[in-house]
Amino acid sequence: MSDSRKILIVEDEKHIIDFLSVRFEQEKILTEHAGTLRAGLEKALSWHPDLVVLDLGLPDGDGMDFIHTVRDQSDLPIIVLSARLDEMDKVAALDAGADDYMTKPFGTEELMARIRNVMRSRQRITAETEKEPDEERFGAMTIFYKNHQIFVDGKEIHLTRTEFSILEYLARNAGKILRYEDIINHTWEWIDSGSIKKLQVNMANIRRKLGEKPGESTYIVNELGVGYRMR
Ligand code: CA
Repeated sequence: MSDSRKILIVEDEKHIIDFLSVRFEQEKILTEHAGTLRAGLEKALSWHPDLVVLDLGLPDGDGMDFIHTVRDQSDLPIIVLSARLDEMDKVAALDAGADDYMTKPFGTEELMARIRNVMRSRQRITAETEKEPDEERFGAMTIFYKNHQIFVDGKEIHLTRTEFSILEYLARNAGKILRYEDIINHTWEWIDSGSIKKLQVNMANIRRKLGEKPGESTYIVNELGVGYRMR
């Protein structure tokens, strides 16, 4: 991590603030903390941190409100650190725009790894939106984004609009795991009970058209139970 990183800790448990501050200092990360939702929001908007580590159970409100408010105006990376174990709480925080979620008690080194990961993927997204290539090669496959054309070994592959949209999304984020929900949201903009099935059917068609045999993952890896990743 470079010298100028700034992390805001929004947390009311002093021992967590203390040991995170010490650990961040070792990484030369500038750290500020806020013990309430209100102070957290003020600092997030005035101090311009590069990332926020956010507790959900704050004395004057719910950290979820922090996520909603910040997401309305910026894409500031947020990692939630919470004692709430319920899967629905995690899903709600991620859906609201948190970048990652860790359950307390947590390992500091795992948190550091997740911070690095969130920072890296943010940098990549920024770099990509600044300069999105018109065409990209993935092994024997070439994608021409503008013309919606795909060639494998020089032969054009015909995808439906939906299939192309899924493949483009994976390709633009190559190397990164995209959760099923993210792909579904990106492709259809809503989720219902049949969405996963619909995604799987489209994915099977894409793979077949690309010439992947069942069980192979030349281009697209299925991260079971989580999502898909483009190699
Ligand atoms: Ca708390």
